[in-house]
Amino acid sequence: MKKIHQIYINGEFLTPHGTETFDLINPTTNQKIGEVVLGDEEDTKAAIAAAKEAFKTFSKTTKEERIAYLEKLHAAVSKRENDLVKVMVEEYGGTLQFCKMSAQNAITAFPTMIETLRNFNFEKTVGHSKVRLESLGVVGIITPWNASNGFICSKLATAIAAGCTAVIKPSEMSAQQTQLIMKCFHEAGLPKGVFNIVNGLGNVVGAEITRHKDIAKISFTGSTVTGKTIAKGAIDTMKRVTLELGGKSPNIILDDANLSEAIPLAVFGAYMNNGQACIAPTRLLVPENKLDEVNILAKAAAQNIKVGNPANEDTNVGPMVSQKQFERVQNYIKIGQEEGATLLVGGEGKPEGLEDGNFVKATIFTNVRNDMRIAQEEIFGPVLSIIPYKNEADAIAIANDTTYGLAAYISSSNKERAEKVAAQIDAGRICINKFTHDPQAPFGGFKQSGIGREFGVYGLEAYLEPKAILE
Ligand code: NAD
Repeated sequence: MKKIHQIYINGEFLTPHGTETFDLINPTTNQKIGEVVLGDEEDTKAAIAAAKEAFKTFSKTTKEERIAYLEKLHAAVSKRENDLVKVMVEEYGGTLQFCKMSAQNAITAFPTMIETLRNFNFEKTVGHSKVRLESLGVVGIITPWNASNGFICSKLATAIAAGCTAVIKPSEMSAQQTQLIMKCFHEAGLPKGVFNIVNGLGNVVGAEITRHKDIAKISFTGSTVTGKTIAKGAIDTMKRVTLELGGKSPNIILDDANLSEAIPLAVFGAYMNNGQACIAPTRLLVPENKLDEVNILAKAAAQNIKVGNPANEDTNVGPMVSQKQFERVQNYIKIGQEEGATLLVGGEGKPEGLEDGNFVKATIFTNVRNDMRIAQEEIFGPVLSIIPYKNEADAIAIANDTTYGLAAYISSSNKERAEKVAAQIDAGRICINKFTHDPQAPFGGFKQSGIGREFGVYGLEAYLEPKAILE
């Protein structure tokens, strides 16, 4: 059993002042695999002080120096690709397929930000003034468990590019993954205090970051509920916030789409990252006169999904991250039936032979109404809702009838038509005819899916403060 008792402050691995411990459980077996000693407010304050001191010189670094640091981070993280995948599968229960992609995202965060930085001007002329974009200060980075190191790498890469220093608080459930990334970052040999990492609980370490006057900005990825708590707390010191929150993304299948291609893809997409993905297309909107055909295709696709040990190459859906998350998903499957949706495939209980871990059956509800809780609330598990619509206008209205607005997906054989529909959807990122990623395109949500954008130029600008110089 591994005992993790290190945090990272001012270039050193330290034993935390905090003494509380948290059990690390393998979600595939529900066996305890380790224990992490959590940091407390004192540890957080020490990390913030180190980052504040480092900011004095780091904010003065040149573009070339920052690029050199990003290159070192890239080299150090790249070397451990296999370890990143292995620890994520074990601790989080992500499938091998997903974890390989996630480790790649973590690694490529650095070269992607280098490219943005090379082409970025920190000084511009606007009107008859000089505008300097200056480093904001110490950034608090707070991340969730569902792709922990990917989020940490992309947020830290952006902070470094902007000349900001950072205090990172990962999810307490990701302590082994954090330990590994901590070692990689240490190997990169950055100046002391530029990044600091404190394991700890949200209401302890996260709350101190939110409250502390020396944190200039918080970059948060996590649930909408926590995002609201952070935003409220950040106001007292007028911190800048970037909030990447939850989603309930619509996947609109237009009546001219090729169903035999679009429906299996839609099912596969809804189950991405074991259904624990903020951008998962969990509301499948289909023409009502094609519902029967869709149901047949969707059921067949779900029956082809392999739920099982995430370490196996052919597994599509692994366990839920925790027992609590498993119970949450079970509860929604119950609610869906009570609300009168038709259970097409899957349902309550664990799949046969997988009783030990937090496994959920690949589940689809059909004939779902958009006002049902299963269509409005983020379930965060492998549960898809098929919602029939009457016509294109109805599909758009249903797609937008949500408090969220993170992503949307459209399938059509007519690209122009799909783009016209995309223009009417309230979502930060819209994919047409495929699930794809562009690391330079802005990422973030409309409405309660968040505030601000990450990645590329939009992401970088969110770590900078414009200063106009009028001469
Ligand atoms: P969460 O909100 O429970 O926790 C996220 C982080 O916030 C953790 O590190 C947690 O310890 C910390 N935290 C908790 N309470 C806090 C507080 N009071 N003050 C400061 N920090 C606090 O989210 P989770 O369960 O870890 O992750 C799942 C959620 O994340 C889902 O809602 C999902 O949609 C969302 N998410 C969003 C994106 C995106 O890019 N929009 C990406 C991934 C996940």
